[in-house]
Amino acid sequence: MERIIKGFTLQKYVPLRRFGADVKHNPLLPMKIIRTTQSRLSQVDFANLGFGSGLADHAFYAEFADGSWDEGRIEPYGPLKQGLALHALHYGQAVFEGQKAYRQADGGIAIFRPLDNAKRLNRSGERMMIPALPERLFIDGLDALIAVDQEWVPRGANQSLYLRPFLFGSSEFITARPSEEYTFGIVTSPSGELYTKPVRVKVERHFTRATSGGVGFAKAAGNYGGAFLATREAVQQGYQQVLWTDHHNHDYFEEAGTMNVAFVVRETLITPALSDRILAGLTRDSILTLCREWGIAVEERPIAVAEIVDAAKAGELNEAFGMGTAAVVSPIEAFGMDDELHQVPVPEDGIAVRVRAALADIRYGRAEDRHGWMHRVAL
Ligand SMILES: *Cc1c(COP(=O)(O)O)cnc(C)c1O
Repeated sequence: MERIIKGFTLQKYVPLRRFGADVKHNPLLPMKIIRTTQSRLSQVDFANLGFGSGLADHAFYAEFADGSWDEGRIEPYGPLKQGLALHALHYGQAVFEGQKAYRQADGGIAIFRPLDNAKRLNRSGERMMIPALPERLFIDGLDALIAVDQEWVPRGANQSLYLRPFLFGSSEFITARPSEEYTFGIVTSPSGELYTKPVRVKVERHFTRATSGGVGFAKAAGNYGGAFLATREAVQQGYQQVLWTDHHNHDYFEEAGTMNVAFVVRETLITPALSDRILAGLTRDSILTLCREWGIAVEERPIAVAEIVDAAKAGELNEAFGMGTAAVVSPIEAFGMDDELHQVPVPEDGIAVRVRAALADIRYGRAEDRHGWMHRVAL
């Protein structure tokens, strides 16, 4: 079957109607799998996993050329074959995703909301003029790669296999026009429990992460390179992270580093409304869903820096935290602005702690998956 997406003909892949926890999906399309003869697994210290400390043995690749994607292949992780005119290096047509696979209580493996990551990768790609990747190829690639490297999925508490799907222009020419060929890759990395220590953040009022009409909503590679300098300066000033503000006058909060941000003012959870400057995080969406179900008042709206400073001064700011795949929630213990440091409580029974525990129970298969968020990998 052929179908047309945004002017590109995509062959062979028929999107599945539904991915739920128990839905057996179609068998994999013939995919070439070359296994390594020199596994690095025995070198991994699973008792002391950092984040992104080492890559698993294999990688998934698929190539787009002449208007269609191939069926994909798995090979030992290794160097690319392209030369230095590799398009993405010059013009930044590169987008990525970040998600995790979790070892289940029964020994199986499940991925959290992978179809939503596939859709977001294509929203990012659309903005960067990268042809759509069939969702089926995204899911099958993840499934097959995780099955091959299943021993890399850690078994320890709060550990997981971090998954990094990415899509980039892979033609070799140096004229400033869109690439003709594209490569989809997936690499994975075992990851430990990420720092849950509360962080001190700087309200960033000079640098801007994203502008209206720009690419802030996309997980586009250059957004992150563009943020390193601001983060470095914040770290040099004694902070761990930046709280991004809007591009007009830096009066409204946008995100916390590479995470979405939420505040609890009195009993209400507030978070900036999505816009083309804000990445639509799946952690954010899942947390808002759980909070609404628990009867917590949730507001998605513009949040003035002054409003939060006033709430902090009045003792009404009860929590602040970042939300993202890597750390799930990252509590903020203080935010600095104009040489003033505002303390934020980090309650042990707060919303951040509750949602972290609830999400962990769903992800590790200890609680019922009522939302159909988990996708079980066929091993
Ligand atoms: C990836 C990302 C997030 C969080 O998204 P999740 O789907 O929750 O991991 C938030 N903000 C930015 C800028 C990001 O890149």
